[in-house]
Amino acid sequence: MSQEDKKERMIHPPAEFPRGVRLLHDPVRNKGTAFTKEERDALSLRGLLPPRIQSQALQVIRVLENLRQKPSDLERYIFLIALQDRNETLFYRVVMDNLKEIMPLIYTPTVGQACQLYGHIFRRPRGMFISAEDRGRVAEVLGNWPHKDVRIVVVTDGERILGLGDLGASGMGIPIGKLVLYTACAGIHPTQCLPVTLDVGTDNEALLEDPLYIGLQQRRIRGQSYDEFIDEFLAAIVEAFPRAVIQLEDFANANAFRILEKYQERICIFDDDIQGTGSVVLAGLYSALRITGGNITDQRVLFLGAGEAGLGIGSLIVEAMVAEGLSEEEARKRCWFFDSKGLVVKGREGLASHKLPFAHEYEFIDDFLAAIKSLRPTAIIGVSGMPGTFDQQILETMAALNERPIVFALSNPTSKSECTAEQAYSWTGGRAVFASGSPFDPVYFGGRTYIPGQGNNAYIFPGVGLGAIVSGTRHVTQEMFFVAARSLMLEASDEELEMGQIYPSLSRVRDVSARIAAEVAEVAYARQLARNPKPDDLPACVRSQMFEPDYISYV
Ligand code: NAD
Repeated sequence: MSQEDKKERMIHPPAEFPRGVRLLHDPVRNKGTAFTKEERDALSLRGLLPPRIQSQALQVIRVLENLRQKPSDLERYIFLIALQDRNETLFYRVVMDNLKEIMPLIYTPTVGQACQLYGHIFRRPRGMFISAEDRGRVAEVLGNWPHKDVRIVVVTDGERILGLGDLGASGMGIPIGKLVLYTACAGIHPTQCLPVTLDVGTDNEALLEDPLYIGLQQRRIRGQSYDEFIDEFLAAIVEAFPRAVIQLEDFANANAFRILEKYQERICIFDDDIQGTGSVVLAGLYSALRITGGNITDQRVLFLGAGEAGLGIGSLIVEAMVAEGLSEEEARKRCWFFDSKGLVVKGREGLASHKLPFAHEYEFIDDFLAAIKSLRPTAIIGVSGMPGTFDQQILETMAALNERPIVFALSNPTSKSECTAEQAYSWTGGRAVFASGSPFDPVYFGGRTYIPGQGNNAYIFPGVGLGAIVSGTRHVTQEMFFVAARSLMLEASDEELEMGQIYPSLSRVRDVSARIAAEVAEVAYARQLARNPKPDDLPACVRSQMFEPDYISYV
């Protein structure tokens, strides 16, 4: 069905509906040149628009023409955000119909560059900036948000943006980007999405000295003051938006683990870097096993990096192995971590508490290659933020140890990846089952084409969020991420696996999200966590709640 054929939905504008210029400046309702004659008459738009009426499909052509002429990805990002600020419906039409092209612009890798330069490219504010200066009146500040039916809040304090470190208030690009994906991938209505940056200062010297930096020019508040601020913020969110799911995003790891542990059984909250990553990578591992032919309980996984991503993945792999019959202890012994200091082993001094469950009785090894030779892993997973750490020797050793070595280089953005797709294939003689965090182009090697999978959290969190909304779950549980991974694993087709692509094409992500949402909601109902009555047909109910970016008729 073409865009022109799509029947516009109709609403009758209430008296307070914006008219004239106010309507054109309202990104939620603006349709630009697509306003009809009748609407122009009824809504005081005559003379404010060029006379020719154009369909949304034509507007999309104009947007794509402009987008593709921009000289750089950063310029494309700026152009797209400007469109989002003008006409959200058109923005989402463009994003959804061209997701593969646009996701790397609005999310990793380009969003990383945008965050690094946020103060320099800043045009209009979007989302809420809640700063340490707002302590004591966060609830009042939240009252300024114009939309009252918020269902998803994505919040960062900007301390660990992608693999780029402390970007302070410039991290706002991340919650904005993630919420775009909630709408594009799972159809959460844009007005139900709230991006938040908690500006608690920054310890990034360059930003502190940059006159164009948009955040507080002070060092981060820490310790008790920080915790009290987080407590106040979360309490205020629950009060203002009681039906909202809260997603923690890009907090530094000590804070992320602590906040999640404190709140996950009290409110409806999850951490995408820990749980969403765990789920998408577990799904990738399951799919990789469809290629290698192994069983999950036979894998030995060695992580480079023992932070939020690594431990989140490790915990879910343990859950998967336990579901297949291993004891928790046996399962943990199949997951090994190597961090900036070396192998995580029992008795190592100063180990952070979240690493302890994976500190095994073993000799300490401070060289990653030596650890590979000693532990003989079937899979290595890079979540260190350290580019080039899966070097030729490491990949050749993995290929010598395994017929089909599993190599996931997940650090973002692309510049931080532990190895490139080309290196993974060429240094293993084309035998690696490879996935990355940021997208890589297809690789031609040894007479065949490989399509690298992208372990993109966008396969998981939008569906989890939608399932949480549909069921009205009180909490987001680990089991929900586990069922999401099982669901995603089934989505890659045999043809895709044949090309090395362990995740389904992004063009199917809305179907994937709908199925994950239904599975997640099922868990909420089964565990008596749901606040909404169970619909007779859960998948149909999920589908019916997904936003489509079609124009609404106002007269
Ligand atoms: P983090 O800061 O919590 O953890 C980083 C870990 O890497 C720490 O344990 C640190 O000790 C370790 N490390 C640093 N330098 C090292 C070195 N030279 N050798 C070995 N270990 C080293 O960060 P995180 O949230 O775990 O994220 C890590 C990376 O994973 C980031 O680049 C992030 O973008 C990426 N990530 C990818 C996905 C995805 O692909 N879906 C999801 C989440 C995070």
